[in-house]
Amino acid sequence: MRMFQVCVCGQPLECREGPTPEPKGTEVLLKVLAAGVCHSDLHIADGYFDLGGGKKLKLEDRGMNLPLTLGHENVGEVVAVGPEAKSVKLGQRMLADPWIGCGKCPACLRGDDNLCRSMRSLGVFSNGGYATHFIVPHPKYLFDIGDLPPERAAPLACSGVTTYGALKKVPTLKDEPTVIIGAGGLGLMCLALHQKMGGHSAIMVDIDPVKRAAAKKAGAAHVIDGAAPDAVQQIMQATKDGAGAWAVIDVVGSSASARVGYDSLVKGGKYIIVGLFGGDLTVSLPPIPMRALTIQGSYVGSQHEMRELMELVRAKGLPDVPVATRPLDDVNAVMGDLRAGKVVGRVVLTPA
Ligand SMILES: [Zn+2]
Ligand SMILES: [Zn+2]
Repeated sequence: MRMFQVCVCGQPLECREGPTPEPKGTEVLLKVLAAGVCHSDLHIADGYFDLGGGKKLKLEDRGMNLPLTLGHENVGEVVAVGPEAKSVKLGQRMLADPWIGCGKCPACLRGDDNLCRSMRSLGVFSNGGYATHFIVPHPKYLFDIGDLPPERAAPLACSGVTTYGALKKVPTLKDEPTVIIGAGGLGLMCLALHQKMGGHSAIMVDIDPVKRAAAKKAGAAHVIDGAAPDAVQQIMQATKDGAGAWAVIDVVGSSASARVGYDSLVKGGKYIIVGLFGGDLTVSLPPIPMRALTIQGSYVGSQHEMRELMELVRAKGLPDVPVATRPLDDVNAVMGDLRAGKVVGRVVLTPA
C-alpha cells in the first residue's frame, strides 16, 4: 500500500510504501475511496496547537507518534475483515467515524468516544486515509453510505459531525438567529446543517469577502465582515431587537474571532468554540454570572451524533457544501492551498 505520512513535523508529507495490513480480531480493512483535507491536518503536520502568549500544545506530548498517515475524513470500500468483525460485508462503502476512544473508559462505554482521555483517532493518533488503504479497529465505527457519492460523504466524518455536535449545543436553534463565525469548509457545513436541522436563521461572519459571498449564496440571512471595527455592533443589529446573540458558534477559534463572538452575546447567551486556529481570550469575571453567559467547547462528535447525522442526511439529503476533488498525490499542494486560505468549501482526495 501507499501512504502519505508526517515523518518530521513542519515538513511536507512523505509518500511511503509498505505491506497492506491484514485485519485481526474485530479490525476492518478498507480501500480508500475519498479522504477530505481538513484544516486540523495543518496543525497535526506542524505538530502543535497555538495556545496564545507564545505557548504551544505539542501533539507529541498527547500521544502522537511519527511517522503518522494523516486523513480523518475517510470513505472506503471494505476489502477484508478480521475473524471477529461481524456486521460488515466485503464491498460495502463505509464512512469511518475517526473519533475512536480507548473503548473501555466510562466515556467510551457511553458512546462518547470524543470525550475519552486516551483517544486513538484515525489520522491523528493512528494511521488515517491519505493512503490507498486504512484499518478501522471495529465495525461499530463504520457507517454505510449507500449510494451517496464518497467525496460528498467523506466530510461528514469531521466537518459534518463537528458542526452537528456544536449545533446540538444551541438551545435556541429553531427560535433565534445563530451566529456562525468562519465561512470556510467548516462554516459552510455548519450553515448547511443549521438549515437541515430547521435552524431559525444564520448570521455568518468572515474576514474574507470571497467566503462571505459563498455564505450569502448558501443562504445565510446576514453576512458580516469580522474584521470591521464595528463587527460586534453589526452582529448585534442582525439579531432580534438588536439585543445580541443567544448562540455563537466559532469555527475559527482565534483570539480575534473569540473576542467578536463573546462580545456579541445577549444576556443568557452561549459562546461555543469549535475552531482550533489558536490564541487566547481575556474575559472579565463578574459579567459571566451577572449576564448568565456560557463558554462551551465542542470537540468533534460522539458516536450517537455520528449516527444521528447519518439519519439526518438520509432524511434530508447531503449538506450542499462545495466539494472539489484532487488526486491523492496532490496532498501537499492541497495542504499548501488550505494554509494560504485559498480553499472555498472542501477539497477531497481521491485515488489517482
Ligand atoms: Zn478535521
Ligand atoms: Zn475511552
